[in-house]
Amino acid sequence: MAKQKKYIFVTGGVLSSIGKGISAASIGMLMEQRGIKVTMIKMDPYLNVDPGTMSPFQHGEVFVLDDGAETDLDLGHYSRFVQTAQFSRKNSFTTGRIYDAVIRRERAGGYLGKTVQVIPHITDEIKKHIQEASADVDLAIVEVGGTVGDIESLPFLEAIRQMKVEEGAENVLFVHLTLVPYIAAAGELKTKPTQHSVKELREIGIQPDILLCRSDRKLPKDVKDKIGLFCNVPGHHVFSALDVSSIYEVPLNYHDEGLDERIAEKLHIWTGRPDLSKWSEMVEKIRNPKSEVTIGIVGKYTDWRDSYKSLSEALIHGGVANDVRVNMVYIDSEEIEKGNRDLLRSVDAILIPGGFGERGIEGKILAIEFARTENVPFFGICLGMQLAVIEFARNVAGLKNANSAEFKPACDQNVIDIMESQKSVKDLGGTMRLGAYPCQILEKHDGKTTRAFAAYEQELISERHRHRFEVSNPFRKAIEEKGLLVSGKFISKESGTELVEMVELPNHPWFLGCQFHPEFLSKPLKAHPLFAAFVRAARDSAGVK
Ligand code: GLN
Repeated sequence: MAKQKKYIFVTGGVLSSIGKGISAASIGMLMEQRGIKVTMIKMDPYLNVDPGTMSPFQHGEVFVLDDGAETDLDLGHYSRFVQTAQFSRKNSFTTGRIYDAVIRRERAGGYLGKTVQVIPHITDEIKKHIQEASADVDLAIVEVGGTVGDIESLPFLEAIRQMKVEEGAENVLFVHLTLVPYIAAAGELKTKPTQHSVKELREIGIQPDILLCRSDRKLPKDVKDKIGLFCNVPGHHVFSALDVSSIYEVPLNYHDEGLDERIAEKLHIWTGRPDLSKWSEMVEKIRNPKSEVTIGIVGKYTDWRDSYKSLSEALIHGGVANDVRVNMVYIDSEEIEKGNRDLLRSVDAILIPGGFGERGIEGKILAIEFARTENVPFFGICLGMQLAVIEFARNVAGLKNANSAEFKPACDQNVIDIMESQKSVKDLGGTMRLGAYPCQILEKHDGKTTRAFAAYEQELISERHRHRFEVSNPFRKAIEEKGLLVSGKFISKESGTELVEMVELPNHPWFLGCQFHPEFLSKPLKAHPLFAAFVRAARDSAGVK
C-alpha cells in the first residue's frame, strides 16, 4: 500500500503579520530535517489571479519561481527554509485562480447544467489544487493566507475542514498561530485574544490540534495549560512563538519546545530526530559575526523592506558566508538627485535592486557613476544592471542621450530596449521574461578570470528573470569597445539571438550587474555566489580583515 499522505494546515488568528509564513516554513524545515519528503503550499484569499500585478507596497515582493510563476513572498520563506522541495506554480494559488478555473469549466459546460456553488464546487477545486501540489510528497504543509474571521478565507477553511474528515483525523493536523500579548500595566500575558480566535475556528468546525502563541516571552506552563483548557487542547500542544532577532532562530526555538516531536507523534510519522547542527551554526554566525559592513541600497521603495525581502535575506546570507553582519542602509534615490552624495560616502558598497517606472532613475544613475568612479563595490540587479549600462553608455561611451525605452520610448539611443520580437505584443504581461533561463558565463577576459566566473566557478548557470527590457544588441559594440565587459549571456537555441545577462568592469574592485534576480535562489545555508562575492568585496573595501 502506498504511504498515507499527511497534511498540516497552518492558519492564523487575532492579527495579520504575526509570522504565519515563517512558522509554516519552520515546520517544513524541521520535518524535512527529520527525513520526510515535504512540500509547502500557500493559499491566498484575494481575487487577483496571481500577485504579479500587485504593488509591492501593498503586498510585499513578488517571488518568482523557475517556471515563471509570480507568487506570494511566503514562497520565498519556504524556499529559504526548506532545502529539497521544488516549488512550481502549483504551490501558490489564490481565490482568483480557483474561481477562474471553476468559471471556465462552467462556461465550457463542465458542470452539466448543475447550479455551481461555493460548496461544493469552489471547495472541491481548492482540495483538488492542494492534492495536485502535494502529489509527490509524504507531507504537505499548507498555509491559509489571511486571518481567521475574514469573509474571504471561509471557502479555504471549509475545504480544509472537509479534508480532515476525508483523509482521516490521523493524517491531518491543524496548527493555529495566535498572539499572546504581554500587558505591562497588568504584568500579565493575556490569553483572551487566543481564546476568541480559537472559538471562531471551532464555530466553523475546525478544532486546532496545536497552538503557536506569538509573544515576547516564553509562555510559562500555567499559561499554556490555561490556553489549552479554554481552547480544548492539551497544554503540551501549546507552544511559544517567541519574538526573535533573526527569523532563522524560529525553527530552533520550536524544536527546543518539542514542536516537531509532537507533530510527528500526532501524525503517526516515525522518524529520527533532526540534525540541526548546520542550521544552528548559521544562526550563531548571524548572532555573533566577526565584524560588520554597511551596504547602501539605492531605491525608491525605501521605506518598505518587505518589497525587497529576498534581497535583504540574500545579503544576510552573503554576510554569513563572510562572517560579517551586513547593515543595510536604504537610500532614497530622489535624495541623491537633489545632490546629497554624503549618503553614498557613508557606505562600504552600493546595490541597486530591481524596479519598475521612471521615478528616482536619475538618482540611481548618479549613484552608479559614484560607485564606478570612486571604486566602491557595486552590484546592479535587473533594473540596477540596466541603469549601469545606461550610465556607462552616457559617461564613457559617449552616447550622451542613452536611456531605456521604459522611460523614453522615442529616444534614439535606447541602450535598454524592448526586444524586436516583443514590440507588437500589446498585453504588457505577455512581454515579460519570466522564470528560469540558462546563462553562459565567460571564464576569462584578457587572461584574467571574470568576476562572474570567480563567483560561480562554472560556465553554465540558471537564474530567474522578471523584466520586460533588455540590453539593446545594436548598441553593444559601442559599449563593449569602451570596456564594459559582457561576462554572461543567454543564447536562444531557436534563433541564436544573444541577450546580455551579466556585465562587469574588469578594472574596478567589484562592479557587476545582472539582468536576472539572483536573490530568489539564495539560501541561508548556501549563500548565492554573487551575494557572497559582493559582500566579500564590501568587506575588503571596509578594510575588514
Ligand atoms: N523595469 C525593468 C524591466 O522591465 C527592470 C525590471 C526589474 O528590475 N525587475 O525590464
